[in-house]
Amino acid sequence: MRKPALTIDNPFTNSYERQLLQLSRGRGAKLWDANGNRYIDLGAGISVNALGYGGRRFSRIIARQARRLVHVSNLYTTAPAVELGSRLMGFAMGVIPGGAAAVHFGNSGAEANEAAIKFARLYSKARYNHTRTTIVAFQNAFHGRTLGALSATPNQKYRHKFEPLVPGFTFLPFNDVKAIETQIGDDVAAIIVEPIQGEGGLEVLSHETAEVLRRVCDTKDILLIADEIQTGLYRTGQRLGSQSVGLHPDIVTLSKPLAGGLPLSATLIPGHVNELIEPGDHGTTFGGGPVTSAAGLFVIERLSGDRFHTNLQHRIQQLDEGLRGLAESSALLGRLRGEGMLRGIEVTAGAEKISAILQTARQLGVLVLRSGKNILRIAPPLVIRKRELARGLELLGAAISEVEKGR
Ligand code: PLP
Repeated sequence: MRKPALTIDNPFTNSYERQLLQLSRGRGAKLWDANGNRYIDLGAGISVNALGYGGRRFSRIIARQARRLVHVSNLYTTAPAVELGSRLMGFAMGVIPGGAAAVHFGNSGAEANEAAIKFARLYSKARYNHTRTTIVAFQNAFHGRTLGALSATPNQKYRHKFEPLVPGFTFLPFNDVKAIETQIGDDVAAIIVEPIQGEGGLEVLSHETAEVLRRVCDTKDILLIADEIQTGLYRTGQRLGSQSVGLHPDIVTLSKPLAGGLPLSATLIPGHVNELIEPGDHGTTFGGGPVTSAAGLFVIERLSGDRFHTNLQHRIQQLDEGLRGLAESSALLGRLRGEGMLRGIEVTAGAEKISAILQTARQLGVLVLRSGKNILRIAPPLVIRKRELARGLELLGAAISEVEKGR
């Protein structure tokens, strides 16, 4: 018999819910609250915990690096940071045309996008005599909450209380090839796009749009930035989400799963941009520190293993089949979205129903997420086991039918 979920009042700003579920430990794809209730995690800390929870080797590596060195500043470097940078550049091979030439480390997704936007402006201003500064982003995009990243995020819900934002950002409809072909002017420095819109409803970039974006950017020497904060590092089943949708960006930003839950981000840039950057143009105090870099190396190593891939491909198929089954069996549900292990189901019955589903699911012992107004988001740890995923989907199905029956 489950006890009541341990939700507690908290000292955080009113940005967060007043009552938060207090979690105390985890293993694999399972979490426990302090009342001993178990949850199957189909949200992975919002697409972060690719390797799940409680990894012994992971914690040993962090502890060992912490005993050696925790911080050195960017006046110096460490072996884990150098090695991780090189490994990440390898990740972009075949995706960034000509490959990545350099990496800028940061601490969060928003920071990675800030760096991408700054480098794009730096490049275009230098090449085009300060005439090109506009950044184009897409409707329903989410690129972060710092003022620069927020300026590339069109949703008024996030923006309006903080305006004026950074000037020089415009928005086009997502997957609208005509708009891309006709509305990108000579003032544009960069286009930023998510392969799958993680927060904005899990729409997938079409192959046709990806191809048109590359063509327009090549013709006009515009930098194409792929925000892979949520899609990168096998979330879609491939190394980068760009590969899943046929996108060839110039700049790639990564973060969420990169250091297994520790704060780390990376902005990968090509040689022609790096050539124009001078010492001091951009920087960070903590980004790419030895502990987060050592953690990142461990994550990359795990994500490159054969066993990981075999399990991932099977779980992607299991998730797809499970979600199809759910969508067919409930009148509350509509179209499936997303790809790989970043999936969504539209809740056609509206926003109050989705809140009820999320809450009921939690009471029954499964954690799921929302994306946009009415999309259930499922983004499990990539190492989730067959039985865990099956149980998670079963509990989610039970939550949906309870809400449907109006209980
Ligand atoms: N970009 C995308 C696609 C995201 O999903 C997120 C966060 O959800 C961000 C950027 C911002 O990342 P952070 O919250 O680490 O700043």
